[in-house]
Amino acid sequence: MFTSLSDSLDKTFRNLRGVGKISEKNIADALREIRIALLEADVEFGVAKDFISRVKEKAMGEDVLKSIKPGEQIVKIFHDELEALLGGDQAPLDLNPPARILICGLNGAGKTTTSAKLANRLKKEGRRPLLIACDLYRPAAIDQLAVLAKQIDVPCYTPDASESDVVKVAKDALAWAEKQQGTVLIFDTAGRQEIDEKLILELKRLHDFVKPKETLLVADSATGQQAVSVAEHFDGAVGITGIILTKLDGDARGGAALSMRAVTGKPIKYAGEGEKLDQLFEFHPSRMADRILG
Ligand code: GDP
Repeated sequence: MFTSLSDSLDKTFRNLRGVGKISEKNIADALREIRIALLEADVEFGVAKDFISRVKEKAMGEDVLKSIKPGEQIVKIFHDELEALLGGDQAPLDLNPPARILICGLNGAGKTTTSAKLANRLKKEGRRPLLIACDLYRPAAIDQLAVLAKQIDVPCYTPDASESDVVKVAKDALAWAEKQQGTVLIFDTAGRQEIDEKLILELKRLHDFVKPKETLLVADSATGQQAVSVAEHFDGAVGITGIILTKLDGDARGGAALSMRAVTGKPIKYAGEGEKLDQLFEFHPSRMADRILG
């Protein structure tokens, strides 16, 4: 991930460090290169523009230009701004009781896999997660969640195949969960190929009934700016509390990760980097900024 962006930045910063005395023109040239690299990485246009102007404002200061190592200072400014762009501090989950997490997103984004991955993580952290299958459109999704739950030894509520009312399923699941004495309930919901009214209406009904502490949008990072627009839509409809970006392992550019926070105002809480159930990681903006800068 970020391979091409990292390479471009590396080249630009190496050039900048190589200049004996940095002028405003050197900085302006470097920022132009960085702006192009960000756009090539599929960062949203306005996000890239604002980012560059913030870096520029700080980098053009007298204290930077007159410092002993201006190149290093500019790299530091860039790192700090990148960290802020990615969300600043890591955003933890609200797991205060009753801890209920609604997982939503489009089909294929990785919702079911991520629900199981999240349960696996929480279990390893000493909690008692329960998985609840609420995708009534794809019976295969219910089976898929049950199979994954078994692999990680987490109890899973699977509704009857004939059930068509998602609120009824949630109601029955809550009664079941009570007996299981779980501490975190993870609801895997139905997706669609694209956002449509039916999907949103069902999600709203479920959301109103479950009253989740966390509504997490699972988005495929490889879809770039489309992932960002999906997040905006879901946020507008149900109000998301955070994002889980999946398939970072298959995303060479990284534009979704870089634009998501600035466009939606919502934090990326976790990142999926593979198909295995232990491949879900907390999203740490500072570590991600380190990774981009190589
Ligand atoms: P859903 O339709 O949103 O529930 O998506 P699924 O959970 O069924 O995932 C769709 C496909 O993406 C499956 O083949 C998953 O194994 C795969 N997948 C999910 N997350 C990741 C990830 O982080 N990396 C990779 N490489 N594949 C993933």
